[in-house]
Amino acid sequence: MKLDLKIQPLSSWITAKQEPLLIAGPCSAETEEQLVATAHLLANTGRVSALRAGIWKPRTRPGEFEGIGSIGLEWLKRAKAETGLPTAVEVATGKHVEEALKAGVDIFWVGARSTVNPFTVQEIADALQGVDIPVMVKNPVNPDLSLWIGALERINRAGITKLAAIHRGFSSFEKTAFRNEPMWDLAINLKTHAPELPIICDPSHISGNRELIPYVSQKAMDLDMQGLMIESHIDPSVAWTDAKQQLTPSALSDLIDRLTLRKANVVNVEVKDKLADLRSQIDKLDDLVIQKLAERMKIVEQIGNYKKDNGITILQVNRWDEILQKRTNYAKALNLSPEFTEKLLELIHGESIRKQTEIMNKGQNEAPVQEKLTHA
Ligand code: PEP
Ligand code: MN
Repeated sequence: MKLDLKIQPLSSWITAKQEPLLIAGPCSAETEEQLVATAHLLANTGRVSALRAGIWKPRTRPGEFEGIGSIGLEWLKRAKAETGLPTAVEVATGKHVEEALKAGVDIFWVGARSTVNPFTVQEIADALQGVDIPVMVKNPVNPDLSLWIGALERINRAGITKLAAIHRGFSSFEKTAFRNEPMWDLAINLKTHAPELPIICDPSHISGNRELIPYVSQKAMDLDMQGLMIESHIDPSVAWTDAKQQLTPSALSDLIDRLTLRKANVVNVEVKDKLADLRSQIDKLDDLVIQKLAERMKIVEQIGNYKKDNGITILQVNRWDEILQKRTNYAKALNLSPEFTEKLLELIHGESIRKQTEIMNKGQNEAPVQEKLTHA
């Protein structure tokens, strides 16, 4: 089903300073100095095409920093005047829209917590009626494609044709390495419904930590997303919100340097470098193998703690024999040699034992253990 959206190309409202298109800035505007100084450093990288900053922050618990509010609009004005960077803020109410328009903000985005609520999205859409401003719609917190599409339609029907989607990952019950599961399929699905709709990836909110941002950014590029929105702070260690997922402007610049940009529209598919294609498949699989190993080790930690609490030994020979037997048979069926599988499993098992030993030994001379010994 193709969506009936009227959309102007991304290049009609934002000029990529460099490929990939990069929108960057702090999660939150905190002080005038922090925002303006960050903006200067970002502008100096020559890679950033727009400055983002949240001034109204939707937070999970009341009492946390909920954004600096309208005064931040003045700081954004100054940052723009001094750096020439267009500015982007999140709007979550009709009043936000009015104020941000008055302050000359260039781009709005609808946050994940707003996209989940059609009342909120409609209120924003009503306030946008008759206004010509670019709007980016983040995916809803929960993995519901219809809600995402519905929000895009509401904004589009208000007359906004400079429209983009932002993929920021989805909340999931199962905890993994990501703060918000990327669920790439959902973003790809949106693309098949609306091929002309630009999708920008937000690796900061997907990752939740700096370490994963390069991986997510590369993946977004490999999936032909049209740009990246990454949180950047002059000193992430003291950021008031989302400290773990922000990069300094120079670290951000290095990250962009290291991305491999692959062309989606190779003129002649046959000419496409076969080796590069196969290598990119290998890259993706290797990433998956590492991700799965990391997930396995997390469970090992849980087992370690459980064994410790229940006084169970680390190594249970029967269990290990069973693992070795089952996995080797399975691997053999998939054409992997038993020697290779055994070596691999031994390596993984060795690391699991090391991790569990570490857990067992932590605080081993503390009172409860002593007590157990006396009772034995
Ligand atoms: C943000 O961009 O800082 C933000 C609040 O994001 P999200 O709506 O994706 O949680
Ligand atoms: Mn944030």
